[in-house]
Amino acid sequence: MGARSYDVIVIGAGIIGLSVAYYLKKQKCRKVLVLEKEDSWIAGSTARANGGFRQQFSTPINIRLSQISLPVFKHFEEEFRTDIAFRQRGYLFLTATREGDLALHRNLRIQQSHGVPVEWVTAEDLLEMVPFVAAENLRGGTFCPEDGYADSYSIAEGFGQRARQLGAEIETGHPVVEIQTASGQVTGVRTPRETIQTGRLINATGPYAAVTGQMAGIEIPAQPVRRMLLMSEDFPEISEEIPMVIDADSGVVLRKESGKILMSWSDPEEPPGFNLEFDPSFVEVLAEKTADRFPLLQQVRINPRRSWAGLYSVTPDHHCILGEAPNLPGFFLANGFSGHGMMHAPAVGMIISDLVLEGTTRLVDPHPLRLSRFEEGDLVEETVVL
Ligand SMILES: Cc1cc2nc3c(=O)[nH]c(=O)nc-3n(C[C@H](O)[C@H](O)[C@H](O)COP(=O)(O)OP(=O)(O)OC[C@H]3O[C@@H](n4cnc5c(N)ncnc54)[C@H](O)[C@@H]3O)c2cc1C
Repeated sequence: MGARSYDVIVIGAGIIGLSVAYYLKKQKCRKVLVLEKEDSWIAGSTARANGGFRQQFSTPINIRLSQISLPVFKHFEEEFRTDIAFRQRGYLFLTATREGDLALHRNLRIQQSHGVPVEWVTAEDLLEMVPFVAAENLRGGTFCPEDGYADSYSIAEGFGQRARQLGAEIETGHPVVEIQTASGQVTGVRTPRETIQTGRLINATGPYAAVTGQMAGIEIPAQPVRRMLLMSEDFPEISEEIPMVIDADSGVVLRKESGKILMSWSDPEEPPGFNLEFDPSFVEVLAEKTADRFPLLQQVRINPRRSWAGLYSVTPDHHCILGEAPNLPGFFLANGFSGHGMMHAPAVGMIISDLVLEGTTRLVDPHPLRLSRFEEGDLVEETVVL
């Protein structure tokens, strides 16, 4: 019997790989195979996300990826018959510093000029929205009511189930261990069980992007970095209706989740690596970070057993890498989402599917996201990274 053969093989069954598989099938790609190394799908970063989606970015390309994705989340339940706990409660960025004020206003102008319904909120109005915030020196903030949060796992599951119904094959416990090429083109993959032929391969391996890139001799500057989230015990003192609140000065992010408070903060000193252990001392770190601006949170009891850690895949300019590798035709990258992979997954699925099947896309100009920007030194820095 000859080797199996597919039109496209997607490596990785997280939200990105499953979105790509769904949009490929929706666009009538014939034979699509998703290979996942773990014994179940959606076992990587996707299952550990905070679920936030927002248009409040600092660059037009990230704003655009969010704008393409938002309607998909909004209509997900009708289209995919999956409840994704879609909560459009807005994102509220606040600041008490001059630099924060300037940065938020700069972003506000960019966002508004790209059609984002975001507004400046005065300190008084802000305190009405989130009365648990300390008023001292508060200058105000930005609020976009279309932002919010949803369940990342359910979105990925919706994409995966529909991709399967449309004929995609998704195999778990089946890692890719080698990428095969001939005459400078992708020809297939090797797994511990078999060799499978394809001319088109998608790297959707999340924090393992660079490891997978190495299999193809391609350097992908996306590093895994641990990120921790704290879940409290029930805390009815803060309304369930609050938006995602971001203290732009400290970087603390918080929201409600089923009566509890979910909090996070990105430690700039966190070294790259695959460390997935939750560090209980993070509870103290966040207590300190929140003490001045969110004094009520001092009463919150954290449940360390329900808190967790996951991996971001971070690029030097905090933008993802999308498109075909310049030196290896047939090898497509959907990597380095730098904490935005859930909210951009629908757009990424559509764009990669267009690029694979048509060689081009009308949805965005993908040029700013090309891999070669790193060696060309042509980076566009995203500054709103949470
Ligand atoms: C704590 C935390 C909070 C976050 N919050 C948000 C948020 O609020 N909003 C947002 O948009 N994003 C958020 N993110 C980021 C988001 O989770 C990721 O960007 C997104 O899940 C990436 O999806 P993925 O499919 O690329 O990666 P993953 O979900 O990690 O999937 C990659 C898959 O590839 C598989 N794989 C790897 N190597 C191989 C191989 N050789 N062969 C076969 N399979 C392989 C892995 O097992 C894995 O299942 C957060 C992330 C973390 C960690």
